Amino acid sequence: MQTLILSDVHANLTALISVLEDAAPFDRVWCLGDIVGYGPDPNECVEQIKSLPGLICVKGNHDAASVGGLDVHTFNMDAQESLAWLTKELTFENSQWIEALDDVVIVDDITLVHGSPRSPVWEYIMDSGCAHENMKAFDTSICLVGHTHLPAVYELGGNSASPTRISKITVDEEFAVNHKSIINPGSVGQPRDLDARASYMIYNDVLESWCYHRVDYDIQAVQERIMAANLPYRHAARLKAGW
Ligand code: ZN
Repeated sequence: MQTLILSDVHANLTALISVLEDAAPFDRVWCLGDIVGYGPDPNECVEQIKSLPGLICVKGNHDAASVGGLDVHTFNMDAQESLAWLTKELTFENSQWIEALDDVVIVDDITLVHGSPRSPVWEYIMDSGCAHENMKAFDTSICLVGHTHLPAVYELGGNSASPTRISKITVDEEFAVNHKSIINPGSVGQPRDLDARASYMIYNDVLESWCYHRVDYDIQAVQERIMAANLPYRHAARLKAGW
């Protein structure tokens, strides 16, 4: 079975559609949260994701904030401005769907969270030290995370100085994980690794293989919708360079 793993769509429908077309065919979808926030298409993205086959989706910090689950003052000014817009835009039905999302889901010996296993909605796993501290916080072989918008594979089995190491991954190349791991597929709608292309991964549970992909999308079209919605210019500018 081919599983599409995506995260941090951030209301960018153009990037989402490009990923769905590029990834097809797939049998099911695991979404690691932050469907909304920053971008111009929150309802369209929620509706598109709701319709995907075999969907499992966890709640991100922007999702939680959009339905009043978090204090917006913990966000930066630009994010606060978009959240105010977002709460007005989201339909009642889509808000209810977001509110009902779980923070943690376990499926097929894999844990799904947005941030980290020990702090599912909020913690950023940015380095191997933080990843190592989180290895004890889940009982499955693999934990999938998003939130940082940076694709990464952290795997137990390094040396004594750094017992969890970062495994190198290459676009369009399959990889296997041999030890307990934390895997981040990167962000669909707002990549932050200076590569503007939308990021996602595919997991084949029969072969136990993983593949990391990037796909181009029409960034200018999204920037124009961000500006038309009067959302902060910064959200449009960052898409072009991927920061
Ligand atoms: Zn995010």
